[in-house]
Amino acid sequence: MKNFVKVVIGLPIDGPFDYAVPEMLRSQVAVGKRVWVPFRYKDMVGYIVALSEAADVENVKPLRSIIDKEPVLDSEMLELTKWMSEYYFSSWGEAIEAAIPGGLKRGRTEISARVDDGDEEFERSQNLKPTPAQKNALDDICKDIHTNSYHTYLLHGVTGSGKTEVYLQAIGCALELGKSSIVLVPEISLTPQTVERFKSRFHTHVAVLHSHLTPGRRFEEWKKVKSGEARIVVGARSAIFAPVKDLGLVVVDEEHENSYKQQDAPRYHAREAAIKRAEIAGAVCVLGSATPSLESYYRAKQGGYKLKELSERIEKRPMPEVEIVDMRDEERAGKKLRIFSNALEKGIMKALDSGLQAILFLNRRGFSTFVNCRKCGHVVKCKHCDSTLTYHFQKKKLLCHWCNWQADPPEICPACEGSYMNYFGLGTEKVESETHRIFLNKRIGRMDTDTTQKRGSHKRILSDFKNRKLDLLVGTQMVAKGLDYPGVALVGVVSADTALHVPDFRSGERTFNLLTQVAGRAGRGDVKGKVVVQTYTPTHYAIAAAKKHDYARFYRSETQQRRQLKLPPFAHIICITLRGRSSEKTKQEADKLSALLRARLKKIPPAYFPKPQVVGPATAIIPRLRMHYRWNIFLKCADVMWMNKILKEVLTKFGKPSGIYTAVDVDPL
Ligand SMILES: [Zn+2]
Ligand SMILES: [Zn+2]
Repeated sequence: MKNFVKVVIGLPIDGPFDYAVPEMLRSQVAVGKRVWVPFRYKDMVGYIVALSEAADVENVKPLRSIIDKEPVLDSEMLELTKWMSEYYFSSWGEAIEAAIPGGLKRGRTEISARVDDGDEEFERSQNLKPTPAQKNALDDICKDIHTNSYHTYLLHGVTGSGKTEVYLQAIGCALELGKSSIVLVPEISLTPQTVERFKSRFHTHVAVLHSHLTPGRRFEEWKKVKSGEARIVVGARSAIFAPVKDLGLVVVDEEHENSYKQQDAPRYHAREAAIKRAEIAGAVCVLGSATPSLESYYRAKQGGYKLKELSERIEKRPMPEVEIVDMRDEERAGKKLRIFSNALEKGIMKALDSGLQAILFLNRRGFSTFVNCRKCGHVVKCKHCDSTLTYHFQKKKLLCHWCNWQADPPEICPACEGSYMNYFGLGTEKVESETHRIFLNKRIGRMDTDTTQKRGSHKRILSDFKNRKLDLLVGTQMVAKGLDYPGVALVGVVSADTALHVPDFRSGERTFNLLTQVAGRAGRGDVKGKVVVQTYTPTHYAIAAAKKHDYARFYRSETQQRRQLKLPPFAHIICITLRGRSSEKTKQEADKLSALLRARLKKIPPAYFPKPQVVGPATAIIPRLRMHYRWNIFLKCADVMWMNKILKEVLTKFGKPSGIYTAVDVDPL
């Protein structure tokens, strides 16, 4: 029975592969254990996915050794990773390696943790009395946890409506039944404030998993979960693979967040993996957001998820008033182009003068976002990418935000040797420097990836803001997520248009989400909040809907367009990217592959509806990135699993042209 094993490997190669089990190891083999196996010309770590009596091929090599005493993967995890590999077009081994701590991939059994600052003590918190809307959601969720009935809930609650309290009490229900919970939060909101809310309610039951932990600490937390010592896991994307026992509940907070999507293979979306994991385990999945993704809201409306709405803030606090400032009017009034409109400048002044706080939001870091020559118009670009460089004042450098390449700002034009270089566009660094000039003697902080590179600096800026050591905080989307500080009376959006003009069908959705989330930081205490949004396109439906806090209105406008264009949620998109150093060859191969795909799809009987579509090839948004030219081909289809089978067949026929790399991204963002 245990003479042979089927093993998968963490390479982009399909398996499983057969290996013979030497006599002396037969009593130890088990599904889910790691093994050392000879593969091609070296030894590699493999994962046993099945035992068998006979091999499918001849001349099977023996495995070298068995690494684990206990399996690292249980049957649920094997099923989840198998599904992931099929849906997200990776190998099973790659999916498994996304699911386990880094050290385990290299065959290690122990990773020692340095003794760091250790666990903080938190004040204990009690359940709050739920509002009727919270109670209604909780009753259903707890009933489903109790009866092990898999269901996905979409908890759509306006900012400040108490979604977290629903999560906390649902976790409490699971814990009382002896069941475990996983809570996913976007990496960016894994702030001390978020973790504190869970630890102060559940103390030592909580393990925290995210990418900023040292490998040793991460492994410690993983073991704490695997042994059952921790029953609640709070973490970013990869925490969905935490090896919990008796899973009862999975929560995906801010389910619309892009950071849930992994950018390299396997390119999975943690929300979809969460739903699948809950389904496999017979658990409940709760997706929460003030601005649900169109995909999730659509599925809820179709009856696929149970929709629960929390449409009021707790304690009946009013939603903040949103004022839209038309920047064209400001310009028409003949004023010199300024960063702040009158309304925004006065609003900040008023808040700060009454001893309250303000947040200024801009979705771009740096000082000036492009540099060009006044004489010939030459724009300074990255050496490796087709992207404009951003000027960073403190570093006195031009920086590529795609590949991090740095250059000194040119004093004369590299193209015509003209001696005037203009600095255009706005970044957070420039906004911060303006605020110092206008709001004299105020304490001003900035939070973006430039100021939070050092370990602990993110935490320090937030705690300074919380303890009122800062009056004004300038930042990128980092300040938009989950901050809950009662002293914030004013939130200013310096430019609502930055996210809007990205050539991407999701730009309207992204803008609505950002504005709603940023606005939600205002008025969370006893003071009434106000939001000032500066824009050149005040009539855009995403901006108009955000002004009224009207998700339903936004959803109607957005779905209307997507339905016409057959875009998600009305179809799935699969993006195939070809990249290579030769511009010509990459284009040729992209043409060849799209022709193969079109020819194959022609053979599909007309009865199959809706018919999948091939779009492209088209150049990527940044056509040249890190010295590689990139072409995209898009497939639009209704059924991903079915489409993937056809795609695999075509890619096999296409082969591997030399110097060309192919990547597949299912449901890309
Ligand atoms: Zn020039
Ligand atoms: Zn670059």
